[in-house]
Amino acid sequence: MKKKEHNYSKNSPKVYIRTYGCQMNEYDSEIMAGLLNNSGYHLTDNLEEAKIIILNTCYVREKVKHRIYSRLGELRKLKGKKPDLILGLSGCLVQREPEEVLHRAPYLDFILGTSNFYQLPEVLEEISGNDNREKQVKKRCTRVVRAEENRTIPEGLPILRKSKFSAFVSIMRGCNNFCSYCNVPYVRGREVSRSSREILREIEELAQKGYKEVTLLGQNVNSYGKDLSGDQDFADLLIQVNRVKGIRRIRFTTSHPKDLSDKLIDQMARLDKVCEHFHLPVQSGSNKILSRMKRGYTRKHYQNLVDKLRQAIPEITLTTDIIVGFPGEEEEDFRNTLELVETVGFDGAFTFCYSPLRGTEAAQSEERIPAEISGERLRRLIELQQAILLKKNKSLVGRKFEVMVEGISKKNPDEVEGRTRGNKIIIFPGGKNLIGRFIWVEIVKAGCWALRGMVLSRDEKTSRHNPKSIYSDGEELS
Ligand code: SAH
Ligand code: SF4
Repeated sequence: MKKKEHNYSKNSPKVYIRTYGCQMNEYDSEIMAGLLNNSGYHLTDNLEEAKIIILNTCYVREKVKHRIYSRLGELRKLKGKKPDLILGLSGCLVQREPEEVLHRAPYLDFILGTSNFYQLPEVLEEISGNDNREKQVKKRCTRVVRAEENRTIPEGLPILRKSKFSAFVSIMRGCNNFCSYCNVPYVRGREVSRSSREILREIEELAQKGYKEVTLLGQNVNSYGKDLSGDQDFADLLIQVNRVKGIRRIRFTTSHPKDLSDKLIDQMARLDKVCEHFHLPVQSGSNKILSRMKRGYTRKHYQNLVDKLRQAIPEITLTTDIIVGFPGEEEEDFRNTLELVETVGFDGAFTFCYSPLRGTEAAQSEERIPAEISGERLRRLIELQQAILLKKNKSLVGRKFEVMVEGISKKNPDEVEGRTRGNKIIIFPGGKNLIGRFIWVEIVKAGCWALRGMVLSRDEKTSRHNPKSIYSDGEELS
């Protein structure tokens, strides 16, 4: 499909898309936006002026499901006032329980699962007809339901990305791991890797458009290529992406500890564009719980990986995901998690109370942990992690980093914020003209969530802290 930019007129119907959940969902929303843009619709951030509202849903925990239904309740009222409003739901919640969605929200005009989301324009056409799209959207049929399983997503779909310099690129979809608590294999299907040719084509195109950073996405990027003919793995893919001229930073998420190879660690240490940040979800520090979660590794294995990563890439920052209150988690198991968190010293942790999800193995367990205990454990874990993070961040005061500026600071219009290669957020004085640029800063103050920096002059900047700068492709650094 050919890409066009802004293929809409003043009167094009306006579409509002709200995304819940992970980067993979963000990426799918960007594809929906690209498809709509190509079909003559106009994307808007203003709910009030929208003629079509789409919630692209997540279903990784019950809490997010409740949030989506409560949002739908509000939108139903809006629909009451605007009978021509088209309201649709796409994504993981739809894929997991289409009947329940339709039962609870019978007023929806369409639902699209994770394998059908790219059919959005034809579905809208079916609902409204496009003969008089320029003037108004008029419904002509009641509802469209598409939630097929494991359909392959076509290549070459147009993508309307939010950022002009940093892009998500999906390298695979689905997951084969079936961790006992997780919905992902049910809502995203089995692992399907994209061909490296298609991935590289997308990244080369991004580089030509001026993109500087790519984040390679997959539920378990370490198993990239296992389903493809040939013997290309994730490390080989990184080697190829590293060669794309113009791209200066490569990130990826998420990695599974059981599939993290020495080859990948070696390549990460060697490839100059691959950033020194690793998101490696551990989930628990207790071997008993890890085994019940069906994670396929022990605490010792995880710690060995951390040691290897730090040995190969001393500057590396490590982040993780942790679940507390998993069925059968005793105080001692939880203490093992705290101990692990303390020993590793993570630079960030997404922490969750276990949420039983219907249809998953763990939800059948009778050893449920009461909510007060899980909540209390979560509080203790967050407290510990914050103390560790603050100490780590304080140790960075006085250090110099290259920051890719992402935007104006949310708190202060005279400041900008961006990230280091290690994914630390840095805020420093500056304006719009810096967005998308690489600036060297010295850290002057440290907090838990962000660090404050001071811009360095040309003479003060240094590549000393980019351990792999000797591999640089020779571009000017700021
Ligand atoms: N593929 C990634 C994670 C996908 S889901 C991986 O394997 O790491 C993102 C995170 O949500 C998980 O790492 C886990 O910490 C959390 N999560 C998933 N299911 C959950 C559940 N039922 N209850 C609480 N947290 C959950
Ligand atoms: Fe879920 Fe486990 Fe797959 Fe991650 S690896 S998506 S936690 S099943």
